[in-house]
Amino acid sequence: MKLTKYPAKLLKPLQAYLSVQKEELIRQLHELEASDPYNQPDRINDNELGEDSYESNEHDQVVVLKNQILSSLHEVDETLTRIKDGSYGFCAQCHQMINTDRLVIKPTAKLCITCEKSITSQK
Ligand SMILES: [Zn+2]
Repeated sequence: MKLTKYPAKLLKPLQAYLSVQKEELIRQLHELEASDPYNQPDRINDNELGEDSYESNEHDQVVVLKNQILSSLHEVDETLTRIKDGSYGFCAQCHQMINTDRLVIKPTAKLCITCEKSITSQK
């Protein structure tokens, strides 16, 4: 029997898992924004000499972390969309079904191992 669609009984728990992950990522994003010294309302009032460079370091770290979270969030969102439109579990390049063992480890995988390897070796 050849599978033409990713089994729905595997998609349900995955969808639930990704939704939880999405919420968690959004929560982290909000926490991060709150910790950014550039977002502190009293920043202008107590700007002593030397504190500025410390704050911009902190701010840079926040930006790096924020970009990481945003790209994970994007991946999760994309995966949820693929679950909905039925393309989940198939390689975006060769359209073969992606090994389920691989998807267990990396549920947001868009490519099968063969295609991913060929792409990373091109870089
Ligand atoms: Zn492939």
